[in-house]
Amino acid sequence: MSKKCVYCRGGINDDRSIDVCDRCGVGVWGEKMFKTIVRNMDNANSKGDLCSTNTQPSIE
Ligand SMILES: [Zn+2]
Repeated sequence: MSKKCVYCRGGINDDRSIDVCDRCGVGVWGEKMFKTIVRNMDNANSKGDLCSTNTQPSIE
């Protein structure tokens, strides 16, 4: 079960936190912004933030 890009339906790595391939991500957000988004998503995943739905978000 490999992931697919939501824009071009191309295959992307399973460890990618966002369902957008590099080419489309850069096209949509620009290279700098896209890299920042991917990094933020990876950080959230590794901390398990996406699973802790019962806790209050600390960001207001
Ligand atoms: Zn794509």
